[in-house]
Amino acid sequence: MEDKKESCLFCRIARGEIPSYKVYEDNEVLAFLDISPASRGHTLVIPKEHFPDFTLCPKNILAHCFEVAQLIAQAQIRQLGATGTNVLTNVGKSAGQTVRHFHIHVIPRYEDDGLQLAFPPHRLEDKEMLLLQDSIRKGV
Ligand code: AMP
Ligand code: ZN
Repeated sequence: MEDKKESCLFCRIARGEIPSYKVYEDNEVLAFLDISPASRGHTLVIPKEHFPDFTLCPKNILAHCFEVAQLIAQAQIRQLGATGTNVLTNVGKSAGQTVRHFHIHVIPRYEDDGLQLAFPPHRLEDKEMLLLQDSIRKGV
């Protein structure tokens, strides 16, 4: 873990070794503009401590990160004229996670911004839905 923290991009940003456009900072959490924004004001919220993803982040820190994400979303609406926000976090390569340091994307949305965050609809048989329901319930 130590070595990972040394080279981790977002740990380096949190330590100030790599510059970022910070919009919020406290002892545990940092928020900064995404370098390749999906929309104007796209912000990333991270814990300063290294946790690889959402599933591995302790719940008190997770809660703190989401509180900050809410503040950012409110500020985007108030200050940038956003009319909505997408709040999301990618877990794992298959989900598109490229930086293995937990982060929340807060993506402001504007009328007719043309941004597509697609979730193509699928229909599953009732039997399969019940099996899925059962499997997930057992694991919670
Ligand atoms: P993800 O694909 O969910 O892991 O998101 C990683 C995000 O980090 C991407 O949206 C990148 O544009 C963003 N990113 C990568 N390098 C930097 C950087 N140096 N400063 C700010 N954002 C970055
Ligand atoms: Zn890290």
